[in-house]
Amino acid sequence: PSLINLIAAGEVIERPAAVVKELLENALDAQAQHIKIQLKKAGKALIKVEDNGMGILPEDLPLVIQRYTTSKISEPEDLFHIHTLGFRGEALASIAGISKLHLASRVPNYPWGKEILVIGGEIKEEREIGMPIGTMVEVKDLFFNTPVRLKFLKKDATELGHIYETIVRLGLAHSQVHFLLKSENRILLNLPPANNLVERISQIFGLKLAQKLKQREEEKNDIKIKCFIAPLEFSRPTTRDMYFYVNNRWIRSPFLNQVVYKTLEDIWPKGRYPLLVVFIQLPPEEIDVNVHPTKQEVRFKEPYIVQEVLGIAIKQALGESL
Ligand code: ADP
Ligand code: MG
Repeated sequence: PSLINLIAAGEVIERPAAVVKELLENALDAQAQHIKIQLKKAGKALIKVEDNGMGILPEDLPLVIQRYTTSKISEPEDLFHIHTLGFRGEALASIAGISKLHLASRVPNYPWGKEILVIGGEIKEEREIGMPIGTMVEVKDLFFNTPVRLKFLKKDATELGHIYETIVRLGLAHSQVHFLLKSENRILLNLPPANNLVERISQIFGLKLAQKLKQREEEKNDIKIKCFIAPLEFSRPTTRDMYFYVNNRWIRSPFLNQVVYKTLEDIWPKGRYPLLVVFIQLPPEEIDVNVHPTKQEVRFKEPYIVQEVLGIAIKQALGESL
């Protein structure tokens, strides 16, 4: 791969969890109902993702590892007008450039699939294979040709934690999809299809917590907020279990964190934070689009309304348990 490709790849893929995120988003965009993730050495040696989605046409398989090839949109004007998780056609190209990639896929109308082997961005082998409908992506030896990246990887437990968290974030937004995470052949996370978010939260955080979960929906103008929050007895010493979604896309938001602190300031002991899952639904024009999509951040055009509605939703949800 050219230097420019390696640099660009480094921006999107900074660690194994970033690969997992991109591969899972592709599987979800392909309407997969079952997604299996297998790891070796916390993803440093192997990340394998198998899905039962719609697959990739054999003639398209060599194309999907090229930069800016996407089947999803033609005008990437607005991140939040887009109904798929990916749209820039960069992820697979980036991953292919910095790993040994094995890609296999079969679409429903073909009796067999096709596979390619790609090393450092170059296709080395290409052949037809028998396989179930869907897609299999194997990423081996991530960063093998970018030693600096390799050096900055953290210890296995840390990288594994990031991967686990990536799956939880996507799992909460797609509760009907089955996610299975295996590391060195041990099951780390099994999330069978759930009927609703409470069931999904139960799978991840335990039945006891799920049974005490409070929920509330509030709206004002065009802003709709659905809030699921566990009561004080399940509070945590960190903000780690506060999850925010805007139009079903997970975001990092110091602003929303702040809204939660402010709301709970008077009613909860200092230093206690809730397990909380918040879905904010609003029209695309209510969000600032000048934020880089991979940073997973948004800016609200009317933060005061979001603040007000979220504050009310949290207080109302906790209502009787205050
Ligand atoms: P993007 O997701 O932004 O389109 P990617 O590089 O992640 O770009 O993927 C490129 C293309 O490869 C996608 O647009 C899609 O057509 C195809 N693709 C990738 N992964 C899958 C998958 N798991 N199932 C079906 N198609 C896939
Ligand atoms: Mg993608």
